[in-house]
Formats: sequence, structure tokens, C-alpha cells
Amino acid sequence: AFNANVAAAQDALNAFIVTTPDAAIDAAKATDAKRAKGEALGKMGGVPIGMKDLFATRGVQTTAASHILEGFRPEYESTVSQKLWDAGAGMLGKLNLDQFAMGSSNETSYFGNVISPWRRNDGGNAALAPGGSSGGSSAAVSARLCPAATGTDTGGSIRQPAAFTGITGIKPTYGRCSRWGIVAFASSLDQAGPMARDTRDCAIMLEAMAGFDPKDSTSLDMPVPQWEAGLSADLKGKKVGIPREYSMDGMDAEIAALWDQGVAWLKDAGAEVVEISLPHTKYALPAYYIIAPAEASSNLARYDGVRYGLRDLPDGANLQDMYAATRAAGFGAEVKRRILIGTYVLSAGFYDAYYTQAQKVRTLISQDFAKAFEECDVILAPTTPTASFALGEKSDDPLSMYLNDVFSVPASLAGLPAMSVPAGINREGLPLGLQVIGKAFDEQGVLNAGLAIE
Ligand code: GLN
Repeated sequence: AFNANVAAAQDALNAFIVTTPDAAIDAAKATDAKRAKGEALGKMGGVPIGMKDLFATRGVQTTAASHILEGFRPEYESTVSQKLWDAGAGMLGKLNLDQFAMGSSNETSYFGNVISPWRRNDGGNAALAPGGSSGGSSAAVSARLCPAATGTDTGGSIRQPAAFTGITGIKPTYGRCSRWGIVAFASSLDQAGPMARDTRDCAIMLEAMAGFDPKDSTSLDMPVPQWEAGLSADLKGKKVGIPREYSMDGMDAEIAALWDQGVAWLKDAGAEVVEISLPHTKYALPAYYIIAPAEASSNLARYDGVRYGLRDLPDGANLQDMYAATRAAGFGAEVKRRILIGTYVLSAGFYDAYYTQAQKVRTLISQDFAKAFEECDVILAPTTPTASFALGEKSDDPLSMYLNDVFSVPASLAGLPAMSVPAGINREGLPLGLQVIGKAFDEQGVLNAGLAIE
């Protein structure tokens, strides 16, 4: 049934880059066989999922939504996807995304925009963005093409698309999920996580995805907690912090009202609400848009026309010409912008003024959170400053696109677990999300506050 829905919705939503219906059926059959023999089923036994096309999948095209990787079929499987298959899940296909996960609207994909199922371009209204970069994941889960999907979050790419499409997504503590086999964007920020219909499904799937991996040098060597068993919406004795600096000028009135409503729900669940301060919040976005492109410019140096996918070899070209032609043809405009920003801020003469300075700001932001968490257990904030916007609305204005990440980027810079839960709709009937940010390693506290909100 899911395979049929995926196929039926493809023209309207463009959520998938490739589909793998047989893989989903095989997992279902394997689970049936286990059930018949009375064997224990995996945590994800038989569940068909969508896989963001940033995870390497053995023998199945893996593109990061870029022309430069078109036709690339890895010989290896990412650790996270392998863990999901080991837990019994099956793959419906590879989901569309922003190219190399750079974007907030899924408009930078070489394989075309993803359309949010919340409003299609069929009633005179412009089609809506599903958010990004995990826009295929959010659209597919929201349209019920799959019960759950993988996402990755570097500066908000799980939480923002989840908020835009009325689903739930959690970015765990940096290091919880192995980055091995995930196409790298900004290695000190990239983190995988689940996107699903609700908190419980996210807890189940995160248990399957997380765990120490010696192949990732920043992987956390800690046992994976039983988050599903630990779920509780009773927040008695818990303190919820409300960061003063997140009440920004120009915040959508509906988002402010939603935030107040969230406070009321958490109080009803037994929590005490306290005001906290994160004084360096306003520097988070500029620091992120230096650090992430810097790391990206280095990570993307490997796409040289020799090792992966595309090669553009003009007649009579030497090696240098081949590199240039391949990268010129293979990377999209946003990816090129990031590489240019990244190489600029890392260049001699500018390094200290931009990159070193941004790293210092990152430390201050981490210290802000550490101090705030002396006074509270979790932090509640909006996920995004607005509801979803129309496709095309911000695509010519990178700055306004980047500003959409204002509430998601701080937790990324500090490596903290953070989640978006659907919490309401705006006057146009579009979904809005609330964000819970937790202490490092306290995914349980985050999930429990999310459960109390949903
Ligand atoms: N929108 C942010 C960016 O474009 C975050 C992307 C992400 O988390 N992968 O960098």
C-alpha cells in the first residue's frame, strides 16, 4: 500500500529521487517469516521508511540531490541506514532534499522542488515549500507516503521541515548517530535523526539509528537509552526555560501566541516555567553561516570528477580543466555560493577575522546554554519565525532564506538535542511547530516535553 501511495504521489509532490519498492517488500516478508517462526521482531520490524538521499545505500543511487553525484552507486552502506535495516525496516526509496543539504525550502535540489502536501498549486495559490533541507522526508511523512523517514540536521534541517509540514522530528545530541556514510556538509554540525508522525515513533526510530560507531571519530561511546520505554508526559518537578532573546521584533503574532500556548500546556503537565537568558543568540546565525560554509568548502573538495559520479572532460582538457568543468557543471548555485563563502573565510588574511571569530562566538553560545541549563531542564521556543512560505518567495534572496533558521541554529552550534513538535495551525490553516531544546545526552527530557505538547 505504501509503495502504491509513493508512486501515485510522485508527480504531485516529487518527494523521491528513486524508489525501491522491492526493498520495502523484502523487509516486510522477512518480518513475516520471523513472526511465523516465533522469532523476535526488530524494533522497526517490517516498517517501510523513506531514506534521505544523503545516506549512502549500497548499490542504490546516492546523490545528495546534486548533479555531481548523479549515477553514483556506493559500494557501502551508511551506519545509520544499516542499523535501520538490521532493526527490520525496509526502504521505500531515496528522498529528495536540498543539494548537499544546503537550504531551507528544498529548492536547491538538482532533481526539482518538493511540493508540500499542505497546499499544492491547484487552487490559484502558489505551491508551498516543505521546508529544507529534509523536504522530501517532511513531505513524504506528512502525506503519509511513509510512516517515518530519516533526516539530517546541520542547522535545522530536521526541525524546520517538520514544523512546516505538521510532523515530528528530533535532532539528537551531536555524536549520537554515526556520520559514517552520510554525505558530509559541515562535519562538526551534521547529525542524523528521525522524522515521523509523533514523538513515540521518533523515540522508537531514534533507538534504532543511534549508537557508538568506531568508524566515526566523533561518535559518542555511550549506551543507547530506552527512550520509548522512558516516555512520560508528566513533567512534575521539571523546569522549562523560556529564552528572553528569542522574543524578536517582527515575530509573527501567531508564532508568539503559539509559544504562550506551549507554555500553558507544559504548566498543565506539571512543569515550572522560568525565564532564562541566552545573551549571544543574535550572533548564532552569522556564526553558523561562516562555520558551515567553511567546513562545506573543505568537505566538497573531494568532488573532483575523478572519484565520484559526474566527469566533464572537454576536448584537449588537462586535469585542471577537468576539475573546473566538472565542478562548474556539477554543483548548483547555492552550493557554489557556500564554497565561495567558505574558501573566503578560510583564506589567509581573513581567517582570523571571520573563521576564528565565529568559532569564539560558537563557544560563547555553548556557554550560554550551559549556564541556562543550571536553571532549567529543557528550553521551549518556536521552531521557525513563520509558517511555511511559497516556493519561489525567498529563492532569490539568500539572506531572507538564511533568516528562517534563526531559532534552529543555536542548538546546532552547541551540539544539543532539539526537537520540533506540531503544535497548531495559523490563520491560513498551515502547520506551526514548537521546539524543545535539551541538555547534551538528555534526549529523554526533550522527548517527554514533546509528548506533553503533542
Ligand atoms: N538551512 C540551513 C542551511 O542551509 C540548514 C541546513 C541543514 O541543516 N542541513 O545551511
